[in-house]
Amino acid sequence: MSLSGKAALAGVIGWPISHSRSPRLHGFWLKAYGIDGAYLPLAVAPEKLESAVLGLRDAGFRGLNVTIPHKEAVMALCDQVDETARRIGAVNTLVFDGEAIHGSNSDAFGFIENLKEAVPSHDFTTAPGLLLGAGGAAKAVAVALLDAGLPELLICNRSPERAERLAADLGTRAKPLAWARRAEALAGVGLLVNSTSLGMTGHPPLDLVLDRLPAGALVTDLVYTPLETGLLAAARARGCVTVDGLGMLLHQARPGFQAWFGVAPAVTAALRDFVLGDFVPGGDG
Ligand code: NAP
Repeated sequence: MSLSGKAALAGVIGWPISHSRSPRLHGFWLKAYGIDGAYLPLAVAPEKLESAVLGLRDAGFRGLNVTIPHKEAVMALCDQVDETARRIGAVNTLVFDGEAIHGSNSDAFGFIENLKEAVPSHDFTTAPGLLLGAGGAAKAVAVALLDAGLPELLICNRSPERAERLAADLGTRAKPLAWARRAEALAGVGLLVNSTSLGMTGHPPLDLVLDRLPAGALVTDLVYTPLETGLLAAARARGCVTVDGLGMLLHQARPGFQAWFGVAPAVTAALRDFVLGDFVPGGDG
């Protein structure tokens, strides 16, 4: 990497940060588009969040991605938080504009763009969906799906109170469902999403019998280590269309890159292969 004194700088803050694939992903685009810029992994302890963000802004950074555990806390440092990020309750992208800090969330965008690119013919408006999980990623997924016009979204989580809280935050089209009822709820759904960590390398498998899942349903897994999870393999065996979770990671990076470096980047097969080439189990963003 050779940088001029005018290089555009951005990075990702998290604690820890060594697992993050974002530097590799943005680094690919910087090289591909010949941009005089750098994107750095920045380990920021929770108690240093404010001084780090303000210091990087004052040092001339264009902005930052924000990952675990800072996505909620960083909202308090923003002068402006866009509507999607407010609904999700978390910010993953900061853009510095002079002194002003703009916060947004590209996880919902990344999730839906991944599905739309992989299956352009899928109509989200005709059948209910089932979302497994109610953790940090689930809220972005739920917001994306309701915005895409899903008539009903069942949210099914091991800890019922998290599903109930998430559904209550999202309005009448979102409904909580007991974890024990996940298999029977598959009848009639047009979309099944796993946003739990089950099925990820080093975690227990997702225990779900797909007998009632319609063969025309679209099935996607946020877990992308392994790329083809047990859920996706079983759904494919039933004839369902499946979409892996790596595309969400790649697409969520697009808005930040464009804001900081001035180029709308493309998600390509070469990018997928490059990011896959550095696979370490665990972590997101
Ligand atoms: P999180 O906030 O820790 O939530 C974990 C979720 O998994 C919760 O719903 C939790 O249920 C559930 N869960 C964990 N162990 C379980 C078990 N034994 N049985 C049933 N449910 C269990 O994590 P997150 O940030 O939402 O991330 C979830 C997954 O998505 C991770 O694998 C992450 O790597 C992946 N992810 C991928 C992308 C992408 O770009 N593809 C983006 C973000 C996240 P409880 O509420 O009951 O604990």
